[in-house]
Amino acid sequence: ATAASLALTLTACGQNSSGGSKEDKGSTKGGTIGIAMPTKSSERWISDGNNVVKNLQAKGYKTKLVYGEDNPDTQVSQIENLITQGVKGLIVAAIDNKSLNNVLQEAADQNIPVIAYDRLILGTKNVDYYASFDNTKVGELQATYIVDKLGLKNGKGPFNIELFAGSNDDNNTKYFFNGAMSVLKPYIDSKKLVVRSGQTALNKVTTLRWDGATAQKRMDDILTSSYKTGRVDAVLSPYDGISIGILSSLKSDGYGSKSKPLPVVTGQDAELASVKSIIAGEQTQTVYKDTRKLAEVAASMVDDVLNKKKPQVNDTKTYDNGAKVVPSYLLQPVSVDKTNYEDVLVKGGYYTDAELKK
Ligand code: BGC
Repeated sequence: ATAASLALTLTACGQNSSGGSKEDKGSTKGGTIGIAMPTKSSERWISDGNNVVKNLQAKGYKTKLVYGEDNPDTQVSQIENLITQGVKGLIVAAIDNKSLNNVLQEAADQNIPVIAYDRLILGTKNVDYYASFDNTKVGELQATYIVDKLGLKNGKGPFNIELFAGSNDDNNTKYFFNGAMSVLKPYIDSKKLVVRSGQTALNKVTTLRWDGATAQKRMDDILTSSYKTGRVDAVLSPYDGISIGILSSLKSDGYGSKSKPLPVVTGQDAELASVKSIIAGEQTQTVYKDTRKLAEVAASMVDDVLNKKKPQVNDTKTYDNGAKVVPSYLLQPVSVDKTNYEDVLVKGGYYTDAELKK
């Protein structure tokens, strides 16, 4: 191979190893939109990426889709590359909400509009719009599920609960957690819910990069230190991948039998493994967010901005990123458990029965 062709091959490999890059050359109208997603380690982001591509292609754009494999530096250099390659717009689901300021300044210098996808990017005015879900509501749904399932409103209790939150560099984390705590705190204050580990502050319960193994380890430690006697009745978990880690820990401690049933365990994203776990009676609940709709909203936003139209928003107050209040379109999350997964997920076309029962 010539030096030049070798260099080309190496560049291509480098791109793949940093998370993969997919380019579609199908259509020409409107130029190329760069899409930066956080990780392929969770199904939802794979669907998000594919759905954004589909929506943009339908509007006549080319797309470049990259995944940062949960490494903030990788994501910054991926976005730099997209800018160098001349993208006309950017859709970004941030890994670290504060690491993108410099690269988004480069985008602004070239008049490239930026849509924050699902996760708000903080500390920069160079975010044009935000497409997400009502993130406070996600936490409220998880906590309300726990309250209802335990029968707290009917005066039952006290019960033991442990709390888990998402990654501290994801802006959504505090919205999920605060939403949940707004529902749980009155019961914690009245001692109807007891957090035996004593870990109730957000900075004590976060899970870096939403990692299931990290959550599993923390649950192991909590069971060892605080549950030599008695049992955990509920676990607030913010995300299905974390719920799976928590459930593994509980099962290795003997939970899941007649005499020691699993606690109520929440989740988020309705990922396939977790919906199967719900059907099997292990995880109790998840929060479904239709990523097909989110992709549609984000694609329309970038298309509107490029065509000098005002994108549709439904919230202009909540999402202050420290530099500006970012106009947002927020979709509604839905609580899903054994009783309604058929209606919501199967009838809604998110999964087929065959996929869930395999
Ligand atoms: C998303 C959640 C997801 C989590 C982990 C959050 O920013 O809003 O849907 O569970 O990231 O990927």
